[in-house]
Amino acid sequence: MEYETQKIDEGIEKRGLPKPLHKLSAEETERRRASVMIGSDILAYAERFMREEGFSQLLPVLLSPITDPLWPDPAAGIYKRLEFDIYGTTVRTMHSMIVHKLVGTSLLLDRFFVVSPNIRLEKPERASTGRHLFEFSQLDFEASGASSGEIRSIIERLLSGLIEHIGTAEGKRFELLKGSLPKFKIPFKVYMREDLEREYGESWEDELPKHIEEPVWIVDLPREFYDYEDPKTHRWDNFDLYLPGRGELVTGGLREFEYEKMVSKIGSAGVKAELYTLLLELAKERKIKQSAGAGIGMERLIAWITGAKHVGDVQAFPKIPGMVYEL
Ligand code: ASP
Ligand code: MG
Repeated sequence: MEYETQKIDEGIEKRGLPKPLHKLSAEETERRRASVMIGSDILAYAERFMREEGFSQLLPVLLSPITDPLWPDPAAGIYKRLEFDIYGTTVRTMHSMIVHKLVGTSLLLDRFFVVSPNIRLEKPERASTGRHLFEFSQLDFEASGASSGEIRSIIERLLSGLIEHIGTAEGKRFELLKGSLPKFKIPFKVYMREDLEREYGESWEDELPKHIEEPVWIVDLPREFYDYEDPKTHRWDNFDLYLPGRGELVTGGLREFEYEKMVSKIGSAGVKAELYTLLLELAKERKIKQSAGAGIGMERLIAWITGAKHVGDVQAFPKIPGMVYEL
């Protein structure tokens, strides 16, 4: 489906969406500046923390024949997948570097992270959710031989250290934003997806954030073939982290590494196996080591900490679904 270009000026004013830089008033510019400067500090802290945890930082990949299928994904809202020919080969813009993470931890480095720009062309209907963008960056990391519990613990320690750091380092800028830092204790509570479905029904993803005061983990989410599913119980050893009033911040899990399981899950998901030939070949040769990892949405993280209403408010150059600004 194609969408018409929106009349941007009318749309943003009426709907209170993040404006492009040149449309901000002086006061709005001050606030945008404070948000991106706190964002810069958050990024620096997170990168330092990951290195201290033994992760090396790799630079991001933007184009490859292989990217995340983002399917099946209960949170999917992609209206178009970008693929085009370069040098006679079809490449895709990165939905996520998940396959690079699986192959990279198997063949190159036990632990690495990437601040990875991802393009996900969300439907324009998602412009006002406050948490969707068509370009965002995730702190994407993977660890060979780790469990999903270890990955959750890394994230909990990162978030609690980060809040403490920002509280002391960014007091002045916070005054400008009239914000207050999120409060929570770690470890976070863990909910089973099945229990949430029972309590809130199919739309638990929208309901849950209204009923929590602190971040919570949700485990056992049936989704893309690369997350580990127990063949006997059919439980998935993966997770999302949900924030009060906001929703998903993190997605991650333990990964599949066995050829037969990957093939059968790709088949039942209706994903084209030929797009994952390299990964499947490596798995068949038993060269894929089991890993676990996660991706933290950086704009969502910065928006939560700074109290921004929309994730685009913490981007210098907002990328709102359906709205293509000049910069
Ligand atoms: N591939 C996931 C995503 O981009 C993140 C992860 O599981 O590491 O949503
Ligand atoms: Mg996700």
